[in-house]
Amino acid sequence: MSCIFCRIAAGEIPSKLVYQDDQVVAFPDIHPAAPVHILVVPRKHVQSVAHLADGDGELAGRLLLAARTVAEQAGVAQSGYRVIINIGDEGGQTVPHLHLHVIGGKQLTGHGTA
Ligand code: AMP
Ligand code: ZN
Repeated sequence: MSCIFCRIAAGEIPSKLVYQDDQVVAFPDIHPAAPVHILVVPRKHVQSVAHLADGDGELAGRLLLAARTVAEQAGVAQSGYRVIINIGDEGGQTVPHLHLHVIGGKQLTGHGTA
Protein backbone atom coordinates (compact mmCIF):
# COMPACT_ATOMS: atom_id res chain seq x y z
CA MET A 1 0.00 0.00 0.00
CA SER A 2 1.71 3.18 -1.15
CA CYS A 3 -0.88 5.81 -0.33
CA ILE A 4 0.37 7.76 2.68
CA PHE A 5 -3.07 8.49 4.13
CA CYS A 6 -4.15 4.86 3.69
CA ARG A 7 -1.04 3.90 5.64
CA ILE A 8 -1.76 6.39 8.41
CA ALA A 9 -5.38 5.20 8.61
CA ALA A 10 -4.20 1.58 8.83
CA GLY A 11 -1.69 2.44 11.59
CA GLU A 12 1.28 1.53 9.40
CA ILE A 13 2.69 5.02 9.82
CA PRO A 14 2.47 6.26 13.40
CA SER A 15 0.36 9.38 13.75
CA LYS A 16 -1.48 10.99 16.62
CA LEU A 17 -5.04 10.16 15.71
CA VAL A 18 -7.25 12.80 17.29
CA TYR A 19 -10.42 11.07 16.09
CA GLN A 20 -11.27 7.65 14.72
CA ASP A 21 -14.34 5.59 14.00
CA ASP A 22 -15.13 2.68 11.71
CA GLN A 23 -14.99 4.81 8.56
CA VAL A 24 -13.00 7.95 9.36
CA VAL A 25 -9.72 8.99 11.01
CA ALA A 26 -8.30 12.44 11.79
CA PHE A 27 -4.75 13.56 12.56
CA PRO A 28 -2.76 16.81 12.69
CA ASP A 29 -1.43 18.25 9.44
CA ILE A 30 2.35 17.90 9.34
CA HIS A 31 2.67 21.52 8.11
CA PRO A 32 -0.01 23.38 10.05
CA ALA A 33 -1.34 26.57 8.46
CA ALA A 34 -2.95 27.72 11.73
CA PRO A 35 -2.92 26.79 15.44
CA VAL A 36 -5.56 24.17 14.68
CA HIS A 37 -5.02 22.21 11.45
CA ILE A 38 -6.39 18.70 11.38
CA LEU A 39 -6.95 16.40 8.42
CA VAL A 40 -10.08 14.25 8.31
CA VAL A 41 -9.82 11.28 5.95
CA PRO A 42 -11.85 8.21 5.04
CA ARG A 43 -10.28 4.86 5.95
CA LYS A 44 -11.32 3.68 2.48
CA HIS A 45 -9.16 4.98 -0.33
CA VAL A 46 -11.06 7.55 -2.36
CA GLN A 47 -8.83 9.79 -4.46
CA SER A 48 -10.88 12.96 -4.18
CA VAL A 49 -14.40 14.38 -4.07
CA ALA A 50 -14.38 13.92 -7.84
CA HIS A 51 -13.98 10.18 -7.27
CA LEU A 52 -16.82 9.73 -4.79
CA ALA A 53 -19.39 7.22 -5.99
CA ASP A 54 -23.13 7.79 -5.76
CA GLY A 55 -23.13 5.16 -3.00
CA ASP A 56 -20.63 7.13 -0.90
CA GLY A 57 -23.25 9.51 0.44
CA GLU A 58 -23.09 8.16 3.97
CA LEU A 59 -19.29 8.33 3.97
CA ALA A 60 -19.36 11.92 2.71
CA GLY A 61 -21.71 12.86 5.52
CA ARG A 62 -19.61 11.02 8.09
CA LEU A 63 -16.55 13.01 7.02
CA LEU A 64 -18.38 16.28 7.62
CA LEU A 65 -19.66 15.10 11.00
CA ALA A 66 -16.14 14.05 11.97
CA ALA A 67 -14.88 17.52 10.98
CA ARG A 68 -17.48 18.99 13.30
CA THR A 69 -16.37 16.69 16.12
CA VAL A 70 -12.66 17.41 15.78
CA ALA A 71 -13.40 21.15 15.72
CA GLU A 72 -15.34 20.75 18.97
CA GLN A 73 -12.48 18.73 20.51
CA ALA A 74 -9.94 21.33 19.38
CA GLY A 75 -11.96 24.09 21.01
CA VAL A 76 -12.77 26.12 17.90
CA ALA A 77 -16.44 25.27 17.48
CA GLN A 78 -17.53 28.55 19.08
CA SER A 79 -14.80 30.82 17.68
CA GLY A 80 -15.23 29.48 14.15
CA TYR A 81 -13.12 27.56 11.70
CA ARG A 82 -12.87 26.47 8.12
CA VAL A 83 -13.35 23.10 6.42
CA ILE A 84 -11.45 23.02 3.13
CA ILE A 85 -11.31 20.31 0.50
CA ASN A 86 -8.83 20.66 -2.35
CA ILE A 87 -9.63 18.68 -5.49
CA GLY A 88 -7.22 17.85 -8.29
CA ASP A 89 -4.26 19.77 -9.66
CA GLU A 90 -5.79 23.20 -10.08
CA GLY A 91 -7.61 22.76 -6.79
CA GLY A 92 -4.22 22.46 -5.10
CA GLN A 93 -4.59 18.84 -4.02
CA THR A 94 -1.17 17.35 -3.31
CA VAL A 95 -2.11 14.09 -1.58
CA PRO A 96 -4.37 11.90 -3.75
CA HIS A 97 -6.52 10.56 -0.90
CA LEU A 98 -9.63 12.57 -0.06
CA HIS A 99 -9.15 14.76 3.01
CA LEU A 100 -10.89 17.63 4.75
CA HIS A 101 -8.72 20.33 6.29
CA VAL A 102 -10.15 21.63 9.60
CA ILE A 103 -8.40 24.95 10.16
CA GLY A 104 -8.87 27.44 12.97
CA GLY A 105 -7.51 29.04 16.09
CA LYS A 106 -6.81 32.38 14.43
CA GLN A 107 -8.73 34.93 12.39
CA LEU A 108 -8.99 33.66 8.83
CA THR A 109 -9.59 36.08 5.98
CA GLY A 110 -10.37 35.92 2.30
CA HIS A 111 -11.54 32.80 0.55
CA GLY A 112 -8.30 30.96 0.05
CA THR A 113 -8.35 31.72 -3.66
CA ALA A 114 -4.81 33.11 -3.88
P1 AMP B 1 -3.70 19.05 -0.01
O1 AMP B 1 -2.78 20.11 -0.56
O2 AMP B 1 -5.12 19.52 0.15
O3 AMP B 1 -3.60 17.76 -0.77
O4 AMP B 1 -3.21 18.80 1.46
C1 AMP B 1 -2.31 17.79 1.81
C2 AMP B 1 -1.89 18.08 3.22
O5 AMP B 1 -1.33 16.93 3.75
C3 AMP B 1 -0.84 19.20 3.34
O6 AMP B 1 -1.37 20.24 4.17
C4 AMP B 1 0.34 18.49 3.99
O7 AMP B 1 1.00 19.32 4.94
C5 AMP B 1 -0.31 17.28 4.65
N1 AMP B 1 0.51 16.11 4.82
C6 AMP B 1 1.28 15.50 3.91
N2 AMP B 1 1.87 14.40 4.43
C7 AMP B 1 1.43 14.30 5.71
C8 AMP B 1 1.66 13.39 6.77
N3 AMP B 1 2.48 12.33 6.64
N4 AMP B 1 1.05 13.61 7.96
C9 AMP B 1 0.25 14.68 8.10
N5 AMP B 1 -0.03 15.57 7.14
C10 AMP B 1 0.57 15.40 5.96
ZN1 ZN C 1 -5.32 6.21 0.20
